[in-house]
Amino acid sequence: MKPAFGEPLKGNWQGFYSCPVKRNFIIIYLYCDVCRKKGDNAVVACADCLETPDRTIKFVLLGLHDDAYGN
Ligand SMILES: [Zn+2]
Repeated sequence: MKPAFGEPLKGNWQGFYSCPVKRNFIIIYLYCDVCRKKGDNAVVACADCLETPDRTIKFVLLGLHDDAYGN
């Protein structure tokens, strides 16, 4: 399954996806289906990954763009 929206992140945020909401606002989330297939559940701290339905989307961060990426 390919996520219908959002951009895959890299580096410290490998396994997560982001979706800009407004100019400086961002949502970071992950898809459990994808994180299992790619083995990202090992790096994204998705503790209950193996028990969640494929379509689970976990929102992990909602905030200002600059804060989200930690500069
Ligand atoms: Zn997961």
